[in-house]
Amino acid sequence: MAKMDRCPICNVAVKPENLIRHLNDNHPRHPDRPGLLEKLKEEPGRIRKRQAGRPFRVRRWQIALVAVIVMGGLSVVYLPPLLSGTPVFPCIRQEGGLLYHWHTDLSISSAAGSVSIPAGIGIGAFCLEPIHTHDATGRIHIESDTAHRYSIGDFFRVWGKSFGSPTAMHVNGTAETPSPDVILYDLPETIHLQYDSFP
Ligand SMILES: [Zn+2]
Ligand SMILES: [Zn+2]
Repeated sequence: MAKMDRCPICNVAVKPENLIRHLNDNHPRHPDRPGLLEKLKEEPGRIRKRQAGRPFRVRRWQIALVAVIVMGGLSVVYLPPLLSGTPVFPCIRQEGGLLYHWHTDLSISSAAGSVSIPAGIGIGAFCLEPIHTHDATGRIHIESDTAHRYSIGDFFRVWGKSFGSPTAMHVNGTAETPSPDVILYDLPETIHLQYDSFP
């Protein structure tokens, strides 16, 4: 068995080469510690010898590589939200969708008048969301790569607006109980929402 020392402060058994670390870790504020350390450092075998070897040299290309990795990681984390907002739905691969491309005409009015629905909802620098607007006419484009059906509530989420509580909802001219779950189908589908005040 290896020869053990005892800590002069707490009397616990410690390997000789670990005594200095033990004092630093376990008795950092003990008044005897500085004096003990001075003595111990002079005794042979207290400090583990470093392995002799070539000093590690950092090459310039290694710094560059680390920088590229760090910057790449940062841009993945920060760039999309900065440039395009965090998409609500997975981006579609191309304009026109791959499975279906429908349109629904939305109009919204409030006591203050008609509410404008801007162009470019759901269209980011790097992401085209499956529900988006190309112009300010209220025409919603639903262009999907999957068989998923989208609702008017989904459109509001992409828009970043709360669906709130409309006082009336008309789908293809027929009054319905207002609900964000109404599915967006193809023209001639129209949806009209009436609010006291638009959220
Ligand atoms: Zn489109
Ligand atoms: Zn379209």
